[in-house]
Amino acid sequence: MNDEVLDAYVEAGRIASRVLKAGAGLVRPGASLLETVEEIEGMVLGAGAGLAFPLNCSLNEAAAHDTACEGDERVFAEGDLVKLDLGVHLDGIVADTALTVDLGDHGLLVEAARAALDAALALARPGVEAGAIGAAIQAAIEGYGYRPVANLGGHGLDRYLLHGPPSIPNIGHPGGAVLAEGDAVAIEPFASTGSGMVSEAARAEIYGQVARRPARLPAARRAVELVAERQGMPFSRRWLEIPRRDLVLAGLVRDGIFRTYPVLHDVPGSFVAQAEHTIVVIEDGCLVTTA
Ligand code: MN
Ligand code: MN
Repeated sequence: MNDEVLDAYVEAGRIASRVLKAGAGLVRPGASLLETVEEIEGMVLGAGAGLAFPLNCSLNEAAAHDTACEGDERVFAEGDLVKLDLGVHLDGIVADTALTVDLGDHGLLVEAARAALDAALALARPGVEAGAIGAAIQAAIEGYGYRPVANLGGHGLDRYLLHGPPSIPNIGHPGGAVLAEGDAVAIEPFASTGSGMVSEAARAEIYGQVARRPARLPAARRAVELVAERQGMPFSRRWLEIPRRDLVLAGLVRDGIFRTYPVLHDVPGSFVAQAEHTIVVIEDGCLVTTA
């Protein structure tokens, strides 16, 4: 990784950290989810950066991939456990960071996710196996009496690429990828009171382009044109202002040009907490860009 790219990781991380912390302060009982999401996304654009994906705002048993929809009438309530997951990019160089706002009495669950992230960061250096990091995450979360979410995990980052190698499990695996100097990696433990496995809901608010094939219908071609500047990075249904949007989107998904990112949730009635930082692996450890 050259100095220019490293500087971009650091600057994207600085913006993401500042915006996420400010955003957490907006999550209060009675606040509108839509207004909060739009305000936080606006802070990123106001800082001169781009959104690497729509702000994820996932409640309670939802672990990830929820966000506001147009006309969303949801308000945060007493007792809610709110995950905010923010992606900032500068020319495709990404900072991916998340925290959990507790509007109830889930303090230990939030602490479990944070402690697991701290344990992972303490291990991250060249030569460490991803599985050893997963084992540290699992041990920290189980130490609090909760389950790590086994089918979500951390991931490598590259320019305009959100989910590349190495993948960092949230449970102990023998071996796996080995961290190397210059790797940019997002590490994201999830602690759950539920099963520790997430499944896909029917609801999807987040989409991404996965193929460059030409779309057949003019309305679909227009949607593809509007989304092209994302360069494959996810976008929100709410961002796409075109007539008959949902029909057009469904057609593009059916044709394999777009994909959905359905809301991922643990069992009904459970609670999931998340903590996430982006790191760059350096000679003697790691630089946490989103600290
Ligand atoms: Mn994230
Ligand atoms: Mn991530």
